[in-house]
Amino acid sequence: MLYQRSSTLFQEAQNYIPGGVNSPVRAFKSVGGTPIFMQKALGAYLYDEDGRAYVDYINSWGPLILGHTHPMVLEAVTNQLKKGFSYGTPTELETEIAKLIVENVPNVDKIRMVNSGTEACMSAIRLARGFTGKDKIIKFEGCYHGHSDSFLIKAGSGAATFGNPNSPGVTQGTAKDTLLAKFNDFESVKNLFESNSGEIAAIIIEPVAGNMGCIVPEENFLENLRTICTENNALLIFDEVMTGFRLGFGGAQEKLNINADLVCFGKIIGGGFPVGAFTGRSEIMDYLAPLGPVYQAGTLSGNPIAMRAGITTLSILKDDLNLYERIDSTTKILHEEITSILSQKGIAHTTNRLGSMISFFFGENKITNFDDAQQANHSLFNQFFHHLLNEGIYLPPSGYETWFISDSIQNEEIEKTLIAIEKFVPSTD
Ligand code: PMP
Repeated sequence: MLYQRSSTLFQEAQNYIPGGVNSPVRAFKSVGGTPIFMQKALGAYLYDEDGRAYVDYINSWGPLILGHTHPMVLEAVTNQLKKGFSYGTPTELETEIAKLIVENVPNVDKIRMVNSGTEACMSAIRLARGFTGKDKIIKFEGCYHGHSDSFLIKAGSGAATFGNPNSPGVTQGTAKDTLLAKFNDFESVKNLFESNSGEIAAIIIEPVAGNMGCIVPEENFLENLRTICTENNALLIFDEVMTGFRLGFGGAQEKLNINADLVCFGKIIGGGFPVGAFTGRSEIMDYLAPLGPVYQAGTLSGNPIAMRAGITTLSILKDDLNLYERIDSTTKILHEEITSILSQKGIAHTTNRLGSMISFFFGENKITNFDDAQQANHSLFNQFFHHLLNEGIYLPPSGYETWFISDSIQNEEIEKTLIAIEKFVPSTD
C-alpha cells in the first residue's frame, strides 16, 4: 500500500489530536483519503514516512518561496540557535528585520512583529478601531484573515473547504461589526458605507485573493477601495500574508501601485518559522502600546531564531535580482502548459494567476469572486488532486487554495508535473 505508514500515523494521531491535525485543511477531509505524513523536505521535494518523494506546490502554504531547507537559511538559523532560543528582551535582529521591511515596502514607517498571520490581522483591526474610534469593519466573502472571531464570517480557505465559513463560537456581538462585501464588486462596498455611515473603521482585503483559490482584482477595484476609505476616514488594510514578498519585494502595494494604510504580513517574512507582522505609517503605528493606548503583546514575538530565518530569507530575495522574474516565469510556463494539456483533453477549466500565485478551477465559468469559486467543479478537482498525489505531485488539498511556486522548482519538476497531468483521465461516475 502506497501510504501505509501515513495511514497508521493518522490513526494514532486521531486518538490525541482533534481530527488528527493541528490545522484543518491538512486532514484531506474535502479531497478524501489519508493525509500524508511528511518526514523531511529538501529543495523542491517533500519526503513522506513511506519513503515517497513529492514535488511540492504548497511550500508550507507559502513561506518557503526559496524551497525547502535552503542552505543559507539553514546555516544562519543553526548559528543563531547556538546563541540561545529566546530572550524576552529586545534584540538588534528585530531592528534589522524591521528596517529591511519598512525601507522596502511602500508607504510604511514602523512594524510590529507577531507570531502568525492571524495575530497580524487581528491586531491590525484592533489598531484601526482604536485609531479611528469606530467599530465596524468590511471584509470580503471568501477572503481569509486567520481564525480570530471577527474574520470567521463567510471566510475562505479551510473554513470554505469544510462548508463552515461562519463558525459557531463567534458571538452575535462580534459578527454584527463585520460587514460583508463581494470581491470585485465595488457597489457592494459603496452600499455598506451608505448604510453604516460614520461607523466603518476599516476595509480589510487580500489585494490578490488566495483563499478562495487565486482571484485577481479587476481594474479599478482596489483604487476605488482606496478612494472610498480616504473619503470616509476609514483605513484600508491590505492583508499581504500571502502576497507579501511573493508578488515582488514590495508586495501587492508595489505591484498594483496602491497604498494601503496598514499592511499585514506572515509566511515568507518568517522563512518557515512562526512569524507575522503588521505595519503602517508612524501616526497609526504609534497608537500601539507602549506609546499609545491600543494594547498588543507577545511572549515569543520577535523570537531570535524566527527573526534570523526571516532576515536571511528576505536578504536573499532582495539580493537576487532575477528571482521574482524566475519564479513568475516558472509559474507562467505551468499556466500555459497545464492549460494546454487540459484543453486538449477537453476538460473545461479556468486558470487564475498573478505572478507566482496560481489556481486551476474546473468548469466553464470565469472565477471572479467567492460565489464563482463555489460553483466550480470541486469533485473534479479532488480527482485531479489524488491523481497527481499518486504521481508524486503535491498540490494544496482543496480547490479553494492557491498553489505556491518556489524557486526550487526547475525544468525537471515542471516536466514531471506535466507528464503526470498528461496521464489524468477524469472518471465519469
Ligand atoms: N491572511 C491570509 C491572507 C492567509 O492566507 C492566512 C493563512 N493562510 C492568514 C491570514 C492567517 O495566517 P496564519 O495561518 O499564519 O495564522
